[in-house]
Amino acid sequence: MIIGIDLGTTNSLAATWRNGESMLIPNAIGQVLTPSVVSLDERGDLLVGQAARERLSTHPQRTASVFKRYMGTNRALTLGERDFRPEELSALVLRSLKADAEAMLDEPVTEAVITVPAYFNDLQRKATQNAGKLAGFEVRRLLTEPTAAALAYSIGLGADEHYVMVVDLGGGTFDVSLLHCFEGVMEVRATAGDTFLGGENFDDVIIAAFMEEAGSAAGIPPIGQWAPVHGALRRQAELAKRRLSDADVAELALVYQDRPLTWSMSREKFEHLSEPVLARVRLPIERALHDAKIDPATLSQVILAGGATRMPMMRRMIGRLFRRMPMSHINPDEVVARGAAVSAGLIARSAGLEEVVMTDVAPFTLGISVSHKGEDGVRTSGLFMPIIERNTVIPASRVKVVTTIEDNQTSLNLEVFQGEAPLVKDNIKLGTMKLRLPPAREGEVGVGVRFTYDPSGLLEVEATVDKTGVTQRVVIEGNPGALSPQEVAERLEKLSALKLNPRDDAGNAALLSRAQRLFEQRLGRTRVLIGAALAEFLSAIDGQAPAQIRVAAEHLRKVLDSHDDESSF
Ligand code: AMP
Repeated sequence: MIIGIDLGTTNSLAATWRNGESMLIPNAIGQVLTPSVVSLDERGDLLVGQAARERLSTHPQRTASVFKRYMGTNRALTLGERDFRPEELSALVLRSLKADAEAMLDEPVTEAVITVPAYFNDLQRKATQNAGKLAGFEVRRLLTEPTAAALAYSIGLGADEHYVMVVDLGGGTFDVSLLHCFEGVMEVRATAGDTFLGGENFDDVIIAAFMEEAGSAAGIPPIGQWAPVHGALRRQAELAKRRLSDADVAELALVYQDRPLTWSMSREKFEHLSEPVLARVRLPIERALHDAKIDPATLSQVILAGGATRMPMMRRMIGRLFRRMPMSHINPDEVVARGAAVSAGLIARSAGLEEVVMTDVAPFTLGISVSHKGEDGVRTSGLFMPIIERNTVIPASRVKVVTTIEDNQTSLNLEVFQGEAPLVKDNIKLGTMKLRLPPAREGEVGVGVRFTYDPSGLLEVEATVDKTGVTQRVVIEGNPGALSPQEVAERLEKLSALKLNPRDDAGNAALLSRAQRLFEQRLGRTRVLIGAALAEFLSAIDGQAPAQIRVAAEHLRKVLDSHDDESSF
């Protein structure tokens, strides 16, 4: 069985293609959005999703979020006494979605289509593929998020030729893609984006205004310094931002050093202060249009994806830029997962789906480092020689030949880079390979360097020495940002040994984390009420009698519901 997965910065979703349509898979607590958050509890068990998210403010040292930002790096994220790589944390989220899918579909789910931002580089894509492997999936395809969004709208499935722009502003990443659709072919013609721009930047705007007007005066430490209250502040800011999509004013309520603090912000002010962030959103849109040489007037559709596109200022800005209102009738939080399900359906050749050929483009220029010997004999090294240019339609395979620059040169260090800068030092290094060369005069030995980009946007490099005919493959795994197959196997073993909180306990775990958060946030009588209900729930859990646990859980939930303004979580 194959499913589609949107592995998001803030939330992840799984979906399947069933009876001719995409169907979202609910998690163990009945929600389709599973927060991409992992926490290690005091017993050493792992919590994923809602229960982990509730612990962001109560147990920040044992909880990790937004790790998608670090995919493709070897940054260690510490939970309690353990270190995790970003792909391991992603794997834990994927493992939880896999269990949810198996519970709903009642059969083993072994394959997945996983979405990635169109702007993800080779290391980030490989890290995502490894996360899938670590979760026990065969990753059939990595699909770019905007392509998935367009697929969900069934764009590209018709015969008419048209251009579509997908604007995807999620929690932490921003992607813009221009798709060319014709006769069942869907081609991403240009991609642009910013991997450090998302809904969170708008949360930051609210946090900064709050600190300036109220927070600093109340003694809250500056944001750069670590303080437990910052978790709760971020949560409140995010909530206020969401409310401001519908309301004219939103309130932010916090408790700091046992003192309640309230502050409010108008939508008008929020929009005014957000102008610099909104200006950053415009840049990639303009770059994608420019790269593809497309006039906004020739676009037939603009599609919105990502929760942050719900902000009215985003919609207005896009409407002005394209002189038409964007399409958004599919929930922007769900559109990518639904498209991944279409892709999964296409791979499984499900009924009700016409054949679509989907192609993509290379998001970056890929090339190698070369040296140049001038007429005067002076050598300049570290120059970037592109082999596959940005926005080349993939799958693609290109060869370029380099020749020796010295007599009897016996080896060649082939270094692979991606980026747009003329000097390799300004680009990202993907890997190195050492080639042995037969002795000969300068310029007499040629090496054919072949770059192949597969449909998932993963790169393979091969080099053939013309004189010997020997072909070698560059192992792009020599980079600290990517795990080698052996490392994947080792990590898989370690990860399997960790205990994931059981699915049938997910509701109780989320309730417990929520109660702990609210207990910490509230004061006075409310705190006493929550404390009493929590104690009753904990003793019921200790007693292990299912009926008693149910009653205590129900009571605790009622108490929390009547005091929690964050019930949207
Ligand atoms: P995603 O990564 O697509 O799940 O997007 C999550 C981002 O969308 C987060 O930054 C949310 O705060 C933001 N978001 C969700 N709903 C809304 C809303 N109604 N208004 C503004 N931002 C929202």
